[in-house]
Amino acid sequence: MYSSMIGKIAKAKQYAQEPDRIQFSQFEASFRGENDTHTIRFHEGAWNCDCNFFADHDACSHTLAAERIFGISIPHDHRQGEPLPSDVRNMM
Ligand SMILES: [Zn+2]
Repeated sequence: MYSSMIGKIAKAKQYAQEPDRIQFSQFEASFRGENDTHTIRFHEGAWNCDCNFFADHDACSHTLAAERIFGISIPHDHRQGEPLPSDVRNMM
């Protein structure tokens, strides 16, 4: 049993170098902004934040920052901000 766990740990180290293996389908998190703490959500491709700016613009500094933090784990079709470097390469 112990030796099989060693193999799993080695595999986990390999996987951790390949973050595109994880594609978020949903999450909810608290986001500590400069003035207030907000709740951000990502659910089946739709972003949401409880701040006033998001209500008017369908995007805000909190969701855009979360997208940058989670990077390639946000599915390509549901990105709100600038494309990732790997996206630009694929367009050329
Ligand atoms: Zn927000």
